[in-house]
Amino acid sequence: MTARILVVDDVPANVKLLEARLVAEYFDVLTAGDGHAALATCEKTPVDLVLLDIMMPGMDGFEVCERLKANSRTAHIPVVMITALDQPSDRVRGLKAGADDFLTKPVNDLQLMSRVKSLVRLKNVSDELRLRAQTAQTIGLQELARVDRPDEPGSVLLVDGRASSQERLTRALKPIADVAVISDPQAALFEAAESSFDLIIVNANFDDYDPLRLCSQLRSLERTRFIPILLVTEQGNDERIVRALELGVTDYIMRPVDPNELVARSLTQIRRKHCNDRLRASVQQTIELAVTDDLTGLHNRRYLENHLKLLIDRATTRGRPLSICITDIDRFKRVNDTHGHDAGDDVLREFANRVRATARGADLACRFGGEEFVVVMPDTTPEMAAIVAERLRLAVESRGFDIPQAATVLNVTASLGIATLRPHGDTAEALLKRADMALYQAKNGGRNRVVAAAA
Ligand code: GH3
Ligand code: MG
Ligand code: MG
Repeated sequence: MTARILVVDDVPANVKLLEARLVAEYFDVLTAGDGHAALATCEKTPVDLVLLDIMMPGMDGFEVCERLKANSRTAHIPVVMITALDQPSDRVRGLKAGADDFLTKPVNDLQLMSRVKSLVRLKNVSDELRLRAQTAQTIGLQELARVDRPDEPGSVLLVDGRASSQERLTRALKPIADVAVISDPQAALFEAAESSFDLIIVNANFDDYDPLRLCSQLRSLERTRFIPILLVTEQGNDERIVRALELGVTDYIMRPVDPNELVARSLTQIRRKHCNDRLRASVQQTIELAVTDDLTGLHNRRYLENHLKLLIDRATTRGRPLSICITDIDRFKRVNDTHGHDAGDDVLREFANRVRATARGADLACRFGGEEFVVVMPDTTPEMAAIVAERLRLAVESRGFDIPQAATVLNVTASLGIATLRPHGDTAEALLKRADMALYQAKNGGRNRVVAAAA
């Protein structure tokens, strides 16, 4: 993991110490000796994380954090505040100022690395989302472009062997999450696999059960592999914590649990899970966009040409019939010329709806281009195809097309050509060609009719 980290502290020795540790882990480190210098650095260079001392002359850490979070150019940079152990109120103020996490002085190496890594991972996915959002904006996909959504409540599974801590942790998490509680670690594994949680908190307080066993099982199951795990553990057991982190536990928190720290750390994990989920959904959506016609939502020509080949192969191997229908709106140019292009688009959308409504689930309906649509019908004989095509012709002719923006209802008709796959050596191109010839005959024969290609 590589990231650029800004260390801010007015005491040069503290800066040097943190810098040395981070450089040893191959992070790229920048430093600042006061708040103004820190803000200036964040403005002019891309920074992935800020480690921020609180007590500094002039502008203190709270104010630096507030200013970073108030500036849209720096608001997305995670901030870790370095607080003194005997000042728990600092954490509350830190959260109010927008801090993402805390470290306590003197900074322990393990804590430093797990906090830094957690937040850098979150920053990586949220950066990726922001980048995609930019592209989405450029190509006009407003829905995908929304990044800076308010936090949605997370759904958390708390695995905890004791009633008293169950109650305390649930209360602390209430403002940010819906919490399901379970005492039995084995039952927890099933629960985690069944539902979809954003975070699993494992409190290592069972009488005769090793919590790391549960963590390792959660990491090996397909359904739970990507759910972050936060381990609640005893002070002074660094070896166990290292083992846990190696097993794939995402972060940890020490007892006694400070509610503010619990909230900050849980929020980081929940945010990352949400970002990851959205990223995955957007990849899915991008794939869909590449094969979808955006005016009508039907499949596009690229998809048809690829998929028709597979459908033909399958029909040929299984010796099943397959028919296609090409339909073209009659005198569509007149609609554009008389009522405008937008009215034309309305007709195309409504036409697509009628195609969709006529096709069965197994049929493949797509916009072939302009005002031409193709329906591929697997397991369909020429006789059946003729019936379906006639039904579509009638569905178009029988009801007018509503054009709200031209305040009118238009009568629309279409011509249709159908063709059926030949049992041997037929191809997608040849099949489409025959259907197109039949369509041409339908146009020549006076439009608003179905013509079948010769077998
Ligand atoms: P025919 O009965 O012979 O099919 O006549 P036609 O007017 O429908 O055929 P022609 O191919 O001459 O015209 C098709 C028109 O479709 C021309 C083009 O401007 C219009 N068109 C193609 N794509 C779109 C679109 O996405 N939106 C709109 N509004 N019009 C489109
Ligand atoms: Mg036409
Ligand atoms: Mg045409």
